[in-house]
Amino acid sequence: MRLLLDLHPDSYPLEGFRKRQLLEWVFVQGAGSFEAMTNLPADLRATLGEEYALNPFREIETVRSTDGSVKYLFTLHDGRQMEAVYMPYLDRRTICVSTMVGCPAKCAFCATGAMGFGRNLTPGEIVGQVLAVAGGEGIAPRELRNLVFMGMGEPLLNYDHTMLAARILLHPQALGMSKRRVTLSTVGLPKGIRRLAAEDDLGIKLAISLHAPDEETRQRIIPTGHRNSIVEIMAAAREYQATTGRRVTFEYSMLRGVNDQLWQARELAGLLRGLVSHVNLIPMNPWDGSGFESSTEAEIQAFYDELEARGVDVSVRRSRGKDAGAACGQLALKRPDAVTGSAASA
Ligand code: SAH
Repeated sequence: MRLLLDLHPDSYPLEGFRKRQLLEWVFVQGAGSFEAMTNLPADLRATLGEEYALNPFREIETVRSTDGSVKYLFTLHDGRQMEAVYMPYLDRRTICVSTMVGCPAKCAFCATGAMGFGRNLTPGEIVGQVLAVAGGEGIAPRELRNLVFMGMGEPLLNYDHTMLAARILLHPQALGMSKRRVTLSTVGLPKGIRRLAAEDDLGIKLAISLHAPDEETRQRIIPTGHRNSIVEIMAAAREYQATTGRRVTFEYSMLRGVNDQLWQARELAGLLRGLVSHVNLIPMNPWDGSGFESSTEAEIQAFYDELEARGVDVSVRRSRGKDAGAACGQLALKRPDAVTGSAASA
């Protein structure tokens, strides 16, 4: 059966008025079933139900953190699992969505990287995370106004599905999100960054996980980083800016004694010269067996000061959801077959 949410809103299976009703039920009301769409004729609801599935998930579990963030664990129809995080803070409701089960980028400090790669999520499985979180929190889907593609997976390696998901999020008859409030975070793939720059109708924000200004450090913490040099990544970032006119964010997870040295702050400032950018310093969120620890507050401050003194626009991201295992980069599936889904589909 096809997943209705995998379709672009323009290709929903009805015409005119009925199509608008259907879209309204799915994205404005967040209807959980075709039966609930009471202003559609009963035979139409039955036909839709025979041809399409509405819910991409077999099971949804939540873990609430004391700081208010909530981790949503989704079991997909094939038994595989992935997660999203809801962060209701600072008057902003933000959702962090996954684009894959697991991830092939294998960043050494990232819990998802340690799980390996399962499969790409479909557009509907990406968009469905927003609808499910809204439903779980008892709010209308459109009240979730800020979204980051920063959960499990590398969005630019699931390019087409992520782009379609973004178009559904932004579509005025679907979730109607503002492009300024949607951010795609990538491990730094120059080809994908250039492709994204060419999606001129999209205009979502770009964040690049740089994490080190020097090749030696970067390849140590991002083992797949050898395929794309920092020079190439920065060139792609500059092209992206020239094409789109948009500011580029650089993410920098602070790993104690690895990438937090002041000479690295100075090199980073050098790389960013002439680029309209923002640097986000992220205290590393530790997990068992990672072999890394976060830089201390004082070390992060010193790194920050060094950047600021060189005119870099920089901020420190406050960590959320730590006690629920939902902090940035902490998403890790506990079930041994969560990535393959094998036991559940047997
Ligand atoms: N694959 C994409 C998006 C997912 S990760 C990317 O690499 O950007 C989102 C951000 O969290 C990335 O910057 C990633 O490097 C960072 N991250 C991963 N694990 C982390 C951890 N344990 N502590 C801090 N940041 C982490």
